[in-house]
Amino acid sequence: MAGGPAPLLAVRDALRAYLLDGDSSSLRRIAAANPLVLMFDDGISRLEPAGGDATVAALLADVHRAQASGEWARLKACANPDCQWVYYDSSRNRSGRWCSMNECGEVMKARAYRERARTGRGPSAS
Ligand SMILES: [Zn+2]
Repeated sequence: MAGGPAPLLAVRDALRAYLLDGDSSSLRRIAAANPLVLMFDDGISRLEPAGGDATVAALLADVHRAQASGEWARLKACANPDCQWVYYDSSRNRSGRWCSMNECGEVMKARAYRERARTGRGPSAS
């Protein structure tokens, strides 16, 4: 991983693996290469990059903050198998399933409708 978007793509893929499968091996490897240090000043503490890629380290610090605050539970992978985009579920009861109702939600509802039609309920199959 050297320069360009490659480190961020690796973080995205590692976060997706962690969210979808609970596989933290890639995240652990990335965290080891992009360490953070806890800093105290001006009455507040914060995690600061300590070598490696500062942007990647800042993202890992955000993961830590999200887990500590409970916001992490709102991060989900889209239920559309062709998408699997990781999104923030802002629904009141945390019941969101799609990254976007207008896109993946409609696609998946239409797919379910066609499936129901094909398997008997609805118009005859052709
Ligand atoms: Zn989606």
